[in-house]
Amino acid sequence: MAQLIVDIKKLRHNIQFLVEFCNNLGLEVIGILKGPGQDSVIIREFISNGIANVGFSSLPANKCCDKAFKKKPVFISLPSIHEIGSMIDYFDTSFNSEISVIKKINEVSAARNRSHNIILMVDTGDLREGVLPENVLGIVKQIREIKNPGLCFSGIGTNLGCCAGVIPNEHNINLLQDLAVQIEEKSSLPVKTVSVGGSVMLDWLKTNKLPPKINQIRLGEAIFLGNIPTIDRKHKDLHDDVLIFRSDVLGVSEKRIDHPENYGKNALGYKPEFEYTGIRKRAIMNFGISDTYPIGLQPLDPGLNIVCVNSNYTIIDYTDSKKDLKPGDFLEFKMNYMSMLQGFISPFTRIIYKKQEDD
Ligand SMILES: *Cc1c(COP(=O)(O)O)cnc(C)c1O
Repeated sequence: MAQLIVDIKKLRHNIQFLVEFCNNLGLEVIGILKGPGQDSVIIREFISNGIANVGFSSLPANKCCDKAFKKKPVFISLPSIHEIGSMIDYFDTSFNSEISVIKKINEVSAARNRSHNIILMVDTGDLREGVLPENVLGIVKQIREIKNPGLCFSGIGTNLGCCAGVIPNEHNINLLQDLAVQIEEKSSLPVKTVSVGGSVMLDWLKTNKLPPKINQIRLGEAIFLGNIPTIDRKHKDLHDDVLIFRSDVLGVSEKRIDHPENYGKNALGYKPEFEYTGIRKRAIMNFGISDTYPIGLQPLDPGLNIVCVNSNYTIIDYTDSKKDLKPGDFLEFKMNYMSMLQGFISPFTRIIYKKQEDD
C-alpha cells in the first residue's frame, strides 16, 4: 500500500509564510497545482490562507471544476488549439504565445458571449514558452487589432528555471518591467498583471528589489517541498516534509550480492549497478514506478538505501540501519519534485491528509 501523506499543518505554514513574504513585496501569489490537480482539500487550504488564485497546467481530467473555487482558476500552460472550448470553460485566464491560438480563443469565447484574459508569455532566457522580447510589441499590436474581442489582454509573464535553468537576474527581471512600460506607452493597453515564476524566484527576492510593475508570482514546488529549485536549496523558513511517502515491507532477506558473470539490462532497460557486495539485508517494498518516482525518494532513516526499482517493487538495502525490518513494517520517505508529481497522479497511491501534528 503506497500512501502520500499531506501534513496540513505544515502545508498551511508554508502557504502562510510565502503569502506574507510575497504580499509584502507587492506580489499576489498564484498557487500552482501540477501533480495534485483538482484536489479540494489542497485548493481550500490555498484559498483560505491568502493565495490569490490557483493555477493548473492541465485541463481537469474529471471534467468538473471544484466547488472550492471562488473564481475560475488560471491555465498556466499554453492552450492547445484543439481544446480551446474546454479550456475557456474551466479557466478565465490563460498563458499564451501564439497569435493563431489567441485568435481562436477570441472566436470561441466571443461565440459564447464571454471574455477570456490573455497573459502573453515572454521568453526572457529560459528557452521554454514565450515570444522573444523583440517580438512582444508586434504581437501586442496584433492582439489589439483583433476584432469583436472575446478576449482581454491582461498582461505579460515569464518563467525561469525550467528548461535552461536560468535564474532571475537584473537583466531578465528588468526586461519584463521595461516591456510592460513600453506596451502601455506604445499600445495604450493597460498591463494589469506582470507575472513571474516559479519558486526559483524566492532566493533572488530575499536580497533584490523588484521593479514596480511586477505584481504576481507563481509558486508550486516551494509550497509543497520547501525547496528552491534550480539552485536546489532548502528554504530555511519552510517545511520540507509537508509530503511524506509511506509504504510497507513485503518481505525481507539476507542475500549474497555478487556481480553476475553475464548480465543484461534490468526491467526498466538500464544496466544494473552493484554498489554493495557481500551479504546484505534487503527489503522488498510494496511500491514501484507505478506509484511514484522511487529514485526521488529520500528515506527518513539514513541507514536505508534504495538499490533497485521496478514497476511494482522497490528494493531497499537496510544493512546500515539500526532497525530490523519485518513484513508489514512501514517506511517513510521525503519526496522530490518528480516523486511528488507521480505520487499524486498515480491511481494506486492513496492521498492521506494528516490534520494533527501527532496523529
Ligand atoms: C510549474 C510552473 C510554475 C511553478 O513552478 P515551481 O518551480 O513549481 O514553483 C510556475 N509557472 C509555470 C508557467 C509553470 O509551468
